[in-house]
Amino acid sequence: MSRGDRLSEVRERLQEACSRAGRETSAVRLIAVSKTRPASEVDRIAAHGIADFGENRVQEAESKLPAVSAAKLNWHLIGHLQKNKAKKALSLFQWIHSVDSESIAARLDRLAEEASLSPRVLVQVDLAGEDTKSGIPEERVASLVESIRSMKQLRFEGLMLLPPFNDDAEQTRPFFRRLAQLRERLHRSGLMAADSQLSMGMSHDFEVAIEEGATMVRVGTAIFGSRA
Ligand SMILES: *Cc1c(COP(=O)(O)O)cnc(C)c1O
Repeated sequence: MSRGDRLSEVRERLQEACSRAGRETSAVRLIAVSKTRPASEVDRIAAHGIADFGENRVQEAESKLPAVSAAKLNWHLIGHLQKNKAKKALSLFQWIHSVDSESIAARLDRLAEEASLSPRVLVQVDLAGEDTKSGIPEERVASLVESIRSMKQLRFEGLMLLPPFNDDAEQTRPFFRRLAQLRERLHRSGLMAADSQLSMGMSHDFEVAIEEGATMVRVGTAIFGSRA
């Protein structure tokens, strides 16, 4: 199957999930995750009208992005951000989905001020208590959000989730639902807008994420084919 066909199929799945959930297709942003894929493939997908691309490593993005010809793309950092990569990340990405500590947020804010940038950030939440993954535990999210909102340069946009992997998307549904409930609680506390971003759902489970309220889905293999 060609990449264009895969993309059409993803768009169809996205539309069907939206209509099942009674949501507008425009309420869900499709982020094409181009990690391990060359710049030429980004250009090919961009030519089909995709404007949002995700990468999980700053170093890979650093060599790839300058080689992309398509203009006006939004780049999303969806992987863990190391302190020593924060400055470089700001120069490459307009969106950072993986903010998970006060210290990384404060550092981004200071560097963004020096560079006159206003990056959009999401707080990555760890709902499963997985040691191996990044993300802040649920009980500490409110205080991190409060502190980000008080910062000068960072624009707080919402929450991001990378749940434990399960082939069966129904097993992941409770995690998606909990992230949506967390947004609702933070909204009632006055910490976030009711419609702020929920970045959740990947190739094999994005329909379920959409049914549970995802506003951004991060899709790699279903668009580009399986990674080596
Ligand atoms: C790779 C990656 C994705 C996309 O995964 P696919 O299964 O290829 O769709 C989504 N989110 C994060 C954080 C990733 O690292």
